[in-house]
Amino acid sequence: KDILDVQKIREEFPILHQEVNGKPLVYFDNAATTQKPIRVINALTEYYSGYNANIHRGIHTLAEKATSAFEDTRKAVKDFINAREVEEVIFTYGTTDGINLVASTFGRANINEGDEVIISSMEHHSNIVPWQMLCEEKGAKLKVIPINEKGEIIFEAFEKMLSEKTKLVSIVHVSNTLGTINPVKAVVDKAHEYGAAVLIDGAQASAHINIDMQALDCDFYVFSLHKLFGPTGSGILYGKRSFLEAMPPFRGGGEMIKEVTFEKTTYNDIPYKFEAGTPNIADVVAIKKALEFVEEYGKDNIAKYEDELLRYGNEQLQTIPGLKFIGTAQDRVSVISFIIEGIHHFDIGMMMDARGVALRTGHHCTQPLMDIYNIEGTVRASLSLYNTFEEIDIMVEGLKNIVERFK
Ligand code: PMP
Repeated sequence: KDILDVQKIREEFPILHQEVNGKPLVYFDNAATTQKPIRVINALTEYYSGYNANIHRGIHTLAEKATSAFEDTRKAVKDFINAREVEEVIFTYGTTDGINLVASTFGRANINEGDEVIISSMEHHSNIVPWQMLCEEKGAKLKVIPINEKGEIIFEAFEKMLSEKTKLVSIVHVSNTLGTINPVKAVVDKAHEYGAAVLIDGAQASAHINIDMQALDCDFYVFSLHKLFGPTGSGILYGKRSFLEAMPPFRGGGEMIKEVTFEKTTYNDIPYKFEAGTPNIADVVAIKKALEFVEEYGKDNIAKYEDELLRYGNEQLQTIPGLKFIGTAQDRVSVISFIIEGIHHFDIGMMMDARGVALRTGHHCTQPLMDIYNIEGTVRASLSLYNTFEEIDIMVEGLKNIVERFK
């Protein structure tokens, strides 16, 4: 409990200090999006009131200031994920955008009739649909790694799926529905033995566990910065230089070009080749502050604190009659998903909201996973470093009351 100064952290988040439905807000929907520290909010205001200008092309002072702030964030992201080179960091609009980028460029160029793409049973729709679209277009096959009852991928089944037909393995690092931490390093190494490329969906990992591109050795890694205390509409695609350089561009337009004539266009170098048009400059500038926030408290401390909180939450919830956890993997982070016998998840969500507790209910954009568990949806509490043990108690107390009332 003393690993982080949570009260100090909470002071940085203005949104947390309010009442919802007459009760102090308990925000347990961090997997959907995290709240923003005041330094991030201030960075947006400072940008718009101090040096708003378009980047890269201007030679006037404001344009140079905006450009250098934008590129400073790129360097900060490179360090945050331990990428080898700054050019390997592409700004996107989020995880979904990053996956679609890779499907439309690397995918279209390298995946052909008879080839195979492997995903897992616990993917978010954004790591299913783009590959389905691509496979349909190309006559390729989408294969799905099965999971066990706990919500862990069955590694031996994955090994058996791999062959020289496998062109890409795209798998989630941390499941947004189950909280499972997948053995991504082992997946990368195994896939590479067959010459397949690997994309990791890090949407739920980046705010909770250390992510290290050089150690992981994946070919692509995507995440959303709004889940990492940054503004909405911003994300990162990391790609190995060799991959990014070989890939055709994504969107065409300004910034991504070298020379344009009506007959032919040559493309800019990476990372700009994949950043057509004016990006969300203010958001990108503010992201540097979000990363500083995380680094100030330290990824290891955050992981340790959140692990204690998760364990406590699990222990306390276990005392609720009729409650069943969905996702009980050995390695888990941040997410507690559950159902309660005889009470619809949606009703639980509504009644908890009346108590000021923000939980997520439903299929969490993982419908095929819900089908595997033969349920429609779950109630999900997803934790962040600003959540407290007392807030867990408030949630558990509320749930106990609801169960009592439904008896
Ligand atoms: N993958 C996972 C595992 C997610 O949790 C999410 C967001 N819920 C996404 C992808 C999509 O992220 P975004 O909506 O920011 O593009």
